[in-house]
Amino acid sequence: MRFHIITIFPEMFDSYLKESIIGRAIKDKKISIKFYNPMDFCESKKRVDARPYGGGPGMVLRPELFLKAVDKALIAIQKFSSGPRISSPREARPFRKLLSGSSKIKIVLFSPSGKKFDTVYAKKSAKKYTDMVLISGRYEGIDARVGKILKAEEISIGDYVLTGGELPAMVVIDSISRQIPGVLGKYESLEEERVSSSEVYTRPEILKYKGKNYKVPKVLLSGHHKKIEEWKKRNKN
Ligand code: SAH
Repeated sequence: MRFHIITIFPEMFDSYLKESIIGRAIKDKKISIKFYNPMDFCESKKRVDARPYGGGPGMVLRPELFLKAVDKALIAIQKFSSGPRISSPREARPFRKLLSGSSKIKIVLFSPSGKKFDTVYAKKSAKKYTDMVLISGRYEGIDARVGKILKAEEISIGDYVLTGGELPAMVVIDSISRQIPGVLGKYESLEEERVSSSEVYTRPEILKYKGKNYKVPKVLLSGHHKKIEEWKKRNKN
């Protein structure tokens, strides 16, 4: 899976994507992540945001800059696919429809009022798409025409409002990546492939804390696989 992130704050992703399982998935080329910053298309001395029509306190992100950043992502995507070659943003525009209509490419726009992201969506995406363009807003959001022009799917990661779409992008990348075969050390690590439990234990067998002993449930030490599976099933979320 190739993730293409549209954000005015790409540095926010640095440490998260470098570490642990996602870091390894990038090194192993199971996933790739590229950034396209609308700020790069901003005219000198001009701002990336502007006052909202209709009034209100927050600023709105300017549509042209986000469309240009998405066009750049589409050019990159086009290079991976077998269709006609495009190299300039002007040429990219007619391809917007073609590419955003492709069943293997998904354009997502993060919004607190979008469709709720869940594991089913993550699994489906991991199977279906070769490229995902993830558009992160900030402030009051991105001018609504961007989503309409691109026919982007609005996705929410939960019923709360964040200050930006960067955390949602990381959540979506993380959750989809662990559904890609080989990303978790063993594919069987996926919860669906085995009985997992929300309650997990490791050494020591008896944990001493402030004069009290906290023991690991006996059944987990029994070596009795059937009983352990049953216990795990009972302790599922
Ligand atoms: N005024 C907007 C909120 C803007 S929040 C409204 O009322 O809907 C700024 C940006 O953060 C949004 O553009 C979106 O990209 C992101 N964001 C905030 N909360 C989110 C959530 N729960 N899920 C996905 N994206 C979210």
